[in-house]
Amino acid sequence: MVRICIVGTGYVGLVTGACFAEVGHHVVCVDNDLKKVELLKAGGIPIYEPGLEELVKKNVDAGRLHFTNDIAEGVTKSEVIFIAVPTPPRADGSVDMSFVERVAREISGAMTEYKIVVDKSTVPVKTGEKVAETIRRYNKHKVEVDVVSNPEFLREGCAVQDLMQPDRVIIGASGERPVAKMKEIYAPFHAPVIVTDINSAELIKHGCNSFLALKISYANAIAAICEASGANIEDVAHGMGLDKRIGRAFLNAGLGYGGSCFPKDLSAFIHIAEQLGYDFRMLKEVQRINADQIQRFLKKIHDAVWIVKDKTIAVLGLAFKPNTDDMRLAPSLDIIRPLQKEGARIRAYDPKAMEKAKEFLSDVEYCDSAYAAASGADALVLCTEWDEFRKLDLEKLRSVMAQPIVIDGRNVFDSKRMAELGFVYKSVGR
Ligand code: NAD
Repeated sequence: MVRICIVGTGYVGLVTGACFAEVGHHVVCVDNDLKKVELLKAGGIPIYEPGLEELVKKNVDAGRLHFTNDIAEGVTKSEVIFIAVPTPPRADGSVDMSFVERVAREISGAMTEYKIVVDKSTVPVKTGEKVAETIRRYNKHKVEVDVVSNPEFLREGCAVQDLMQPDRVIIGASGERPVAKMKEIYAPFHAPVIVTDINSAELIKHGCNSFLALKISYANAIAAICEASGANIEDVAHGMGLDKRIGRAFLNAGLGYGGSCFPKDLSAFIHIAEQLGYDFRMLKEVQRINADQIQRFLKKIHDAVWIVKDKTIAVLGLAFKPNTDDMRLAPSLDIIRPLQKEGARIRAYDPKAMEKAKEFLSDVEYCDSAYAAASGADALVLCTEWDEFRKLDLEKLRSVMAQPIVIDGRNVFDSKRMAELGFVYKSVGR
């Protein structure tokens, strides 16, 4: 059992804390958002993530998981302190490191003995050095510290599973002592552990996310060629994906990537590379293809309905991907806002993200089912591939719509079947 503190109780911090507690560690989760801490203490969960609520409750009841807004309490009670605070983008694409820097100072201020401080936030290469420097500079007692980079690869929507059964654990450290402690923390997860220097660990995370975004843009570029040539992206991706060197995952054509990670991590990596004297033009192109994909999709909507003004458009799926309520940089926002600007009425349904969507969108009529959203609609636009949408009764859907027009941004429905049912159906790359 290791005594652990996690600073930042968001998607990464809360799930990590719950999973560490689940394997027997004692965890204090710290957050400076008082409302969030109070909600968690009262048994509530601030985010939707499958399996998380049960896991948190079980470990709180077992006395292994605690919440506080007092970072000093968390630091004092723990041997290892994880930093899991936001690293948002600044206007120029660089990373706003002020959250991490502030937490480093706060940890330092509360440290009276040796600690291991682990950075789990996604950060630019060389951040570990800066965190170590900051902690040493602000510590009055001049105690020893080891800083470790332990990037997180969880996917929202299956974060608990990803944490409990990681593909690999990356430990970027200098020295035996922190590596041994990190291995002890991760031993119950039985995952391959890769030990590197701190800079390499930090680069692995940006390298991964940029490569995954690249795969999505690659699929979207091929989808554009499929549309122009009459080929089918699903078949092309299947045929490519069976090649073990390529793999099928992330070769999905659609609305492109969104969310709180890929867009910002790509911008960050481009910026970091620039600072280091490398012009990462390949990633700039990935960004361009991603932005184009939204424009191409909006054109499909216009081609189908012609004039958008005064039309009622049903939107199915708002979250940036299925099984989450996360609306940060969701592609649905880039579809809905221009349609509203042109005078469309939006009726929307998402199984989990409607509450969060209200913080991002105005003048949307939220409905309690896909059929309710589609009712009387001149067209239906699908933005997120929730499983629930695959199971829709399509005849019923058509019967409630004013016009049987479906523009599918995630290739959820079968083109042939949609045509047989009398839909005007447009999807991506087929
Ligand atoms: P989040 O916004 O969901 O959570 C961050 C939490 O930190 C919030 O609850 C916030 O209140 C808290 N916080 C901010 N400043 C604080 C402070 N000074 N003291 C205490 N708490 C503070 O963010 P997230 O999605 O969990 O992301 C955190 C980091 O992990 C980011 O660097 C992100 O890029 C990275 N990451 C995210 C994911 C993901 O899927 N969300 C996956 C891998 C890595």
